[in-house]
Amino acid sequence: MKVLKFGGTSVANPENINKVKSILGNQVKEKIAVVVSAFGGVTDLLLTASQLASQQDLNYKNSLAEIEERHISAIKELIPVTSQSGVLSKVKSELNTLETLLEGAFLIGELTPKLSDKIVSYGELLSSYIISEFLKAEGLDVDFKDSRELIVTDNNFGKANVDFKKTNTLCEAFFASNPNQITILPGFVASSSTGNSTTLGRGGSDYTAAIIAGAVNADILEIWTDVSGMYTANPKLVKQAKCVANISYEEAMELSHFGAKVLYPPTIQPVLGKEIPIAIKNTFDPESPGTLIAKNNNGNGKTVRGISHVGNISLLSLEGPGMIGIPGISKRFFETLSVKNISIVLITQASSEHSICVGIADEDVDMAAEAVNETFEYEISTKKIKPVILEKDLTIIALVGDNMKSHQGLSGKMFSTLGKNNVNIRAIAQGASERNISAVIKKDDVKKALNSLHETFFEENIKQLNLFVMGVGNVGSKFLDQIQQQKKYLKEELKLNVRVIGISNSRKMAFDENGISLKEWESILGNGEAADKQAFFERIKSLNYRNSIFVDNTASAEVSDSYPDYLKNSISVVTCNKIACSSNFEHYKNLKHLAKQYNSPFLFETNVGAGLPIIDTLKHLIASGDKIRKIQAVLSGSLNFVFNTFNDSVTFHDVVKQAQEQGYTEPDPTIDLSGVDVMRKILILARESGHQLDIDDIENEPFLPKESLETNSNEAFFESLKKYEADFQKMYKDAADKDCKLKYVAQFEDGKAKVGLQQIPKGHDFYNLEGSDNIVLFFTDRYVNQPLIIKGAGAGADVTASGIFADIVRIGNF
Ligand code: ADP
Ligand code: ASP
Ligand code: MG
Repeated sequence: MKVLKFGGTSVANPENINKVKSILGNQVKEKIAVVVSAFGGVTDLLLTASQLASQQDLNYKNSLAEIEERHISAIKELIPVTSQSGVLSKVKSELNTLETLLEGAFLIGELTPKLSDKIVSYGELLSSYIISEFLKAEGLDVDFKDSRELIVTDNNFGKANVDFKKTNTLCEAFFASNPNQITILPGFVASSSTGNSTTLGRGGSDYTAAIIAGAVNADILEIWTDVSGMYTANPKLVKQAKCVANISYEEAMELSHFGAKVLYPPTIQPVLGKEIPIAIKNTFDPESPGTLIAKNNNGNGKTVRGISHVGNISLLSLEGPGMIGIPGISKRFFETLSVKNISIVLITQASSEHSICVGIADEDVDMAAEAVNETFEYEISTKKIKPVILEKDLTIIALVGDNMKSHQGLSGKMFSTLGKNNVNIRAIAQGASERNISAVIKKDDVKKALNSLHETFFEENIKQLNLFVMGVGNVGSKFLDQIQQQKKYLKEELKLNVRVIGISNSRKMAFDENGISLKEWESILGNGEAADKQAFFERIKSLNYRNSIFVDNTASAEVSDSYPDYLKNSISVVTCNKIACSSNFEHYKNLKHLAKQYNSPFLFETNVGAGLPIIDTLKHLIASGDKIRKIQAVLSGSLNFVFNTFNDSVTFHDVVKQAQEQGYTEPDPTIDLSGVDVMRKILILARESGHQLDIDDIENEPFLPKESLETNSNEAFFESLKKYEADFQKMYKDAADKDCKLKYVAQFEDGKAKVGLQQIPKGHDFYNLEGSDNIVLFFTDRYVNQPLIIKGAGAGADVTASGIFADIVRIGNF
């Protein structure tokens, strides 16, 4: 014999119930007991209705009306008109009784646990009756049996305890003599030996099925639900979660105890002794193999089998100097909780001689605190013990696996993963069975914690990077193209799964929590919401994804001012915007400090030399213990272009104009021509070499006439260039006469930096610099005579985008 159970979603509506029918129709012709839940959501409606009624709130009638509608419309849709009337009249009469019960609660203004159980039992009683009538009408060999006639419990309403001796006898006798192939039974409900309706706890239909399976010694218990098995983590929260094909009873029990709702925890117990396997199957994908829970089925030595979590937990701690050396404190503490029937979900390792700390369900904690304070009233009044300390809104997250005990380092890996992702751990515990390690964390961090642990323990080291890109102009759009192109390579070769979750320009912003399709980002952004920098940040913060990276492709001071907000929330920052790193030293230092404190890298390789690995090289030199003695560099692609193009057959004015038109200069060309841009770059290199410098400390000998520098419009600026053409030609001739070329050079030596135009002789490393190329010479303790040279294109959207890309990959490997 087989026992099948269909959960709330599987029987939520006629369409789903038809799926159940085809699953039953495909069974081989052996005896089957089919346990069903209430139509999805009906138990909640019943509970709401009874709460409202007991508060004398007439709105209970709305919930009742909804319950009635769900059942009546299901009958009309499922059962042929010819046989409808009998079913309708029976169900209507049941609904009338339900109404009377609710009216009773309304009139008295009270809801006893006994009445509550009576009321909620209607969910399963009605669903099972309607489903059995439907299947009969469809020609299946079906009968209905009320589980209250088979399962006997005590009077612990809401979560009654089963009397297995009586129950097993009744079940055996019934199924031995029952002639029908399929018996439909309501889950969740039972009756006490005094004849009251009781229930087995929320999610208890699984348990009903297991009780029957155990009693009749079934070959298998199949739990049909809305997911394809027991997953490595709740698939609704962890997209990458995978179905666990085989799992042991103990592992499944531990996972469900720690919140894997797919199986109600007590379910294992009635089948465990008889070694009846449990299959978890998906009603909406019956072909998929699902999970098999069986003896010793613990996955070929794999350690961590699943990650689960229990929400709505509070920590309650008792501490004080008076606890040391006084016997019996723990005993009184635990007794107090036990007398109040409060179950302890976890006892933490923080428990020491002068403190005890336990995890309790939020709903019980106020009562628990009051009781404990009362028990220790004397010690508290004499200040030997402090009143209990409560911390609410927490969640327990647990790693589970039979083989975890024989492996070292798992807890280290767990806590370092959480630490790296800035998940604060409030308490830790390790089950005595060593089958789980649990940590108590803040509720808001759950999704992040589950996903990062999942990544560490299950995803063959594939790391997900979540990008939020501000600025999608020249550089930004190239960057998105490159990601789109390399996505597959990154995943396969570098084990990085890069997703762009948010994008924004100055007008619009758009988000997609599953990753924006990069083929269509332009239209997605076009249809986005109005851009708002603060709202963009708030959104990223509230998503609270692990490995979040904010990418700034703008040149905006306002955007760069927001970096501290990002870093403080563990969101890394990658930027080609130079403003932050060349602003005052304190600000720069603070950003570096925040990056360290919050474990959120702050990378800006493209601030100097676009995609050239200049800052990264500098960091490596320093990290390996080398000392920077001197840096000499040509760092302005725009000035290079200008001086490489300028000669005695063109005017300086025309060359600068051309540079501007071709996008080699900033929109305001004086930023480049005054040397300010180069000053910012050498400032950043000096700072990265460990020196405290500000922009005013840099010597700048301008080559432009004062008048040109002081113009306040581009037009006036270009006019002044015409006026001074003769001076520019002289500058060129002086150099050419000495066989020299003009280069705008930045230098840093002995703690001092300067920038200016220099005549560079033949043979010098700078002499043959082409187009907009940059070059940097690092003279260090190790590179004394021959400097370490980095040279190549130092401007342009493509290379800048690839520099940003490289920073993203650096974070991925961090
Ligand atoms: P049913 O109504 O069929 O009893 P439940 O809602 O009680 O279904 O349980 C199924 C749900 O359990 C899934 O939809 C999923 O959200 C949740 N769940 C939590 N943890 C896990 C897990 N580790 N594997 C599978 N499902 C899980
Ligand atoms: N209907 C009950 C509940 O929602 C029992 C179950 O579905 O397992 O808790
Ligand atoms: Mg369930």
